[in-house]
Amino acid sequence: MIHSCYSEKFGIPRQPGLVKNARGAIELLPPCDREEMYRELDSFSHIWVQFVFHEAMSDGWRPTVRPPWLGGQKRVGVFASRTPHRPNYLGISVVRYLGMRKEKSKLYLDISELDLLNGTPVVDIKPYVPYSDKVDMASSGFVQSGDELITVVYTREAEDACKRYEKTSGRSLHALITELLQQDPRPASQRHKHREYGMQLWDMNIRWLAEESMFTVVSVAKRLSENGHSRTASWGDGK
Ligand code: SAH
Repeated sequence: MIHSCYSEKFGIPRQPGLVKNARGAIELLPPCDREEMYRELDSFSHIWVQFVFHEAMSDGWRPTVRPPWLGGQKRVGVFASRTPHRPNYLGISVVRYLGMRKEKSKLYLDISELDLLNGTPVVDIKPYVPYSDKVDMASSGFVQSGDELITVVYTREAEDACKRYEKTSGRSLHALITELLQQDPRPASQRHKHREYGMQLWDMNIRWLAEESMFTVVSVAKRLSENGHSRTASWGDGK
């Protein structure tokens, strides 16, 4: 099972690798919690994680979806997309592997650069092998990277709140927020609206104001309750 800085779907990047400061761990559960099952995994920098999009299941799936890369307008086939809303709800991500850790007799694999929600069930782990997994001449279809990055600024209060949190938790909250917002997590349909958004990272609630291509982080505060300010994920629900 995944422990992740991402406490809700909104804000999670569309793929792993995009946000370097994203942190998490895979908690190893029986019968996969024997140390020897991971012997030599340390010699790999990255691993494939196969998992279940457990929070997409209740929404169901559709044969075609509207990927955010196409501005949320055009529909493509579910199997021509990486949407979480798919018939078997299985996902794959290449994440950075930081090593195994033992804590209170439990084993964890520390990972970073993930795009996985807290609580995600993991079904398999394999080493990423560039020699065969990396395809140099591959085309990316309609998935274009290199969107312009959003400019992210902070109010004084938000800046100070990040510093306080970092001191007590040891987590790089400021860098994580900046990286996430630079990627523009808003659903495609809301790209041109000026409004305030909220997202949850670890036990913190982050609010920011979106204006054109500049976001201002206005508050960073402890989460009060589960119903926070969660909004739909950037993939929409395929409807
Ligand atoms: N790399 C994966 C995921 C791509 S979709 C793959 O290609 O299969 C990425 C989105 O999945 C994120 O924006 C996040 O909102 C969503 N997500 C991550 N974990 C999830 C989960 N457990 N349940 C539902 N959605 C999840």
